[in-house]
Amino acid sequence: MTTPDTPQARLDAVRQRIRTACQKYGRDADSVNLLAVSKTKPVSDIEAVFDAGQRDFGENYLQEALTKVADIGRDPARGPDWHFIGAIQSNKTKPIAEHFDWVHTLASAKHARRLHDARSHELPPLKVLIQVNISNEPAKSGVAANDALALAESILQHERLELRGLMAIPQIEETPEAQRVHFRRLAELQAHIRDQLGQAAMQDLSMGMSADLEAAIAEGSTWLRIGTAIFGPRQKVPTE
Ligand SMILES: *Cc1c(COP(=O)(O)O)cnc(C)c1O
Repeated sequence: MTTPDTPQARLDAVRQRIRTACQKYGRDADSVNLLAVSKTKPVSDIEAVFDAGQRDFGENYLQEALTKVADIGRDPARGPDWHFIGAIQSNKTKPIAEHFDWVHTLASAKHARRLHDARSHELPPLKVLIQVNISNEPAKSGVAANDALALAESILQHERLELRGLMAIPQIEETPEAQRVHFRRLAELQAHIRDQLGQAAMQDLSMGMSADLEAAIAEGSTWLRIGTAIFGPRQKVPTE
C-alpha cells in the first residue's frame, strides 16, 4: 500500500481524474496523454513516477533539465521521453535539440531554424508545438493567434522538425466554464490552421494543468501538463 502523499499515489489519483473526465466528455482515454511536469523535483521522484509507468516528463529550466536527463538517461525504447516546456533562449537551442524529444514552447521562426540546424540526423525529427498567447496577455510568451499560421508554415520547411500542434497557458479563470472558453479558442485556432495547411499535421493540443485538466479535456486536449497534482507543491522557482 502506498500512502496518499507519495508521487505514485498522486499519479494514480491524476489518472483517475483523467478517466472520469474522459467518460464525462465522451473522449477516448487513449487520446489524452499525460506529461508529468517535474521542474524543481528531485531525480528520485521522477524515477518513482517512471517506475509506476509514466513515460513522458516535462522540464522548464534547461540547466536543471540537462542534469536530470544525464542522470536518468533517455532510452528510445523504454523512455523517459523528455519534453522541454520552458522559455527558449536563442543561445540554448543546441542543447534543447540534442537532449529533448519534444518542445512545447516554440514561438519564433528563428528558434525553429536553430533547432532544426542543431537536430542530429541520428535522432528522429524533434517534435514541436507552437506556443500561442491565446488570452492575449501582455507579459505572456507565445505568438499571437494571428501569427500562428505563418509560423506553422515556416516550421513545415524544416525536415528535422515534426510539427505536432499548438500549446497554450491561458489566463486563469474562476470557473471551469470560463476556463473552457480559452481552451476552446486554442482548439478552434488549431482547426483553422489544419484547414489552411490542408494536411494531417498538427493533431496535438497541449493544454490543461493540475487545476484545470477537466476543462482542457472537455475542449480536446491531447497533452495535459501536470506538475503539482503528481509531484506535490513546488518550493520555489529557480532562476537561470
Ligand atoms: C509548471 C508548469 C506546468 C504544471 O503546472 P501545475 O499547475 O503544477 O500542474 C504546466 N505547464 C507549464 C508550461 C509549466 O511551466
